[in-house]
Amino acid sequence: MDLKTTPAVPASAAATSPRLSAKAERFTESVIREMTRLALQHGAVNLSQGFPDFPAPPEIKNAAKAAIDADLNQYAITWGAKKFRDAIAANFERMQGIAVDPEREITVCCGSTEAMLSAMMAIINPGDEVVVFEPFYENYGPDAILSGATPRFVRLHPPDWTFDSSELAAAFGPATKAIILNTPNNPTGKVFDRAELETIRDLCLRWNAFAITDEIYEHMLYDGAHHISLATIEGMRDRTITINALSKTYSVTGWRVGWAIAAPGVTAAVRKVHDFVTVGAAAPLQEAGVVALGMPRTYYETLAREYLARRDRLLGILSQAGFRCFQPRGAYYIMTDISRFGFPDDVAFARYLVKEIGVAAVPGSSFYRDPADGRTHLRFTFCKKESTFEAAAERLSRLSRK
Ligand code: GLN
Repeated sequence: MDLKTTPAVPASAAATSPRLSAKAERFTESVIREMTRLALQHGAVNLSQGFPDFPAPPEIKNAAKAAIDADLNQYAITWGAKKFRDAIAANFERMQGIAVDPEREITVCCGSTEAMLSAMMAIINPGDEVVVFEPFYENYGPDAILSGATPRFVRLHPPDWTFDSSELAAAFGPATKAIILNTPNNPTGKVFDRAELETIRDLCLRWNAFAITDEIYEHMLYDGAHHISLATIEGMRDRTITINALSKTYSVTGWRVGWAIAAPGVTAAVRKVHDFVTVGAAAPLQEAGVVALGMPRTYYETLAREYLARRDRLLGILSQAGFRCFQPRGAYYIMTDISRFGFPDDVAFARYLVKEIGVAAVPGSSFYRDPADGRTHLRFTFCKKESTFEAAAERLSRLSRK
């Protein structure tokens, strides 16, 4: 995703057709999703977009099929089927120990993508700023533009992706409406610890700001990392909008079922935006979501163990091929340093990889506002099956370094 500071209108289009939205002109299509299309076009092994290429659990698939057969095929309540909201509340209490009211504090959306945008549209006014850690998941840039917020970026520094608390403090001010936090983090694999979350909390309290947390990778944790929801930090329960989805935890990214948990007043605004944007998420898939969220603890333990093995497998393949890897402690991506391959930048290298080597990855520049800041990085995902890793290893072995 490329955020432009000034709208670019092609002369020919400007001359022949009415002016398009100035907001839509300010960002490009998603680079992550473009890489998936390029992978298909070139028959490349797709380690770019973060979606599993292995099956979803059979009990969840069966529950979806049964719901369709049981004629649950009409609209659910716009903010989510009651049974599903009850399951979300029970799961959040089981995982994070926070009790929320499913009647007044949950909005079911079409994936966490819609939950994030609906949440931002529900709280942003002209002139508002949002603080965003950089590198950032590329959607947050267009989310800011579409909702009318001005992003203030705060750098996460490799190799451990730490931030400087004075830089974070300087990004907050009277115009700050919210901070967007993604932990475990895409693309870095950072898992924010309690002290970091308390620093964020102090600033939110000081400047009366919300926090919107994207916790979609909550169960993908390695090397003893522990996920803490910001809403559990004292003082943050009612100013945090917690976003999550079925997508990653249950390997159903194509279902588009996510949710936002927030205090009743905030939820009322999120529900209104959501209702008029999408009406609601797929009803039979919400029914299947009840089964998903009720999976036993062993399901989550196995998931984490299998992802650890996949992480180590891909770390081995990439290191062998000459990449310098930043070892992730969470989520399912590996950020790499590509300096030693001698390409002019990340986009040139990613194009070469997908066309000539047959492996797709995401250029680092898609996670930075200024593309130059990501030019030595490439992101690979490891939510893939063993045969995919084998093919990637074989192809990457043809790479030569300088
Ligand atoms: N979150 C995933 C990624 O970063 C998929 C994004 C998407 O295409 N919705 O690759």
